[in-house]
Amino acid sequence: MLRHWQLNRYIMYLRSNTSDLKYLFVFLFCFSSLITKGQELEYSIDELMGKADIDLYGEDINLRKEAHDAFVKMRDAAAKEGIKMQVVSSYRSFYRQASIFEAKYERYTDVDGMEPLPAIDKIIEYSTIPGTSRHHWGTDVDIIDGSVPAEGDVLVPEKFESGGPYERLKKWMDEHSEEYGFYLVYTDEPRRRGFKYEPWHYSYAPLSKPMLENFRKKNILQLLEREDFLGVEHFTTGFIKTYITDNLLDINPDLL
Ligand SMILES: [Zn+2]
Repeated sequence: MLRHWQLNRYIMYLRSNTSDLKYLFVFLFCFSSLITKGQELEYSIDELMGKADIDLYGEDINLRKEAHDAFVKMRDAAAKEGIKMQVVSSYRSFYRQASIFEAKYERYTDVDGMEPLPAIDKIIEYSTIPGTSRHHWGTDVDIIDGSVPAEGDVLVPEKFESGGPYERLKKWMDEHSEEYGFYLVYTDEPRRRGFKYEPWHYSYAPLSKPMLENFRKKNILQLLEREDFLGVEHFTTGFIKTYITDNLLDINPDLL
């Protein structure tokens, strides 16, 4: 423990010796990056895979506290422009994602008669493999503009384009979402692979960046091998490797 007089003496010493001051800055920089690294490691596998009982905030929002607070600020700002930001989907557990995945798998294989691998490829155009969804983190939202009536499925790209009901929402988000920490995940960048363009899916970067950093360090193949949802037995090492590079990591670079 550094005593007060020792600290004072050290500061006096530093004042008389500026090159040491440089070392102090280097030391402080390394120390602070160590702390940041420490924070990055705080998420458990269960939390990252949507199996933990995490605290969620806002009845119609359902996000982690920090993401919720930022979302409310963003929603209130958009409301002043007459946009009624409405959450269609936010936190989703592993078990919910598994039932979505299995329902699609059954439909494509049993009803449509597809082979398992093409069926899985079709599922992962828009849906994630259970345990790998960003919606498990409580940091990501799918949004629409509730002030505009729309027919049929709401989460279709055309509805967010010019002439569509959510054009105004999308334009407002393009201009302002990043001020509140929210970034589009699956952009319309033509060279991007993985999930298709989702103009409705935003992620709260201050939380989701360290979570992704954490998740990509885990042995995702091994984690999935322990699961027993429908179709999992068809995942090969090569398939999971491509899924990780294309679907999990080929996203908006601001979120990496
Ligand atoms: Zn989404």
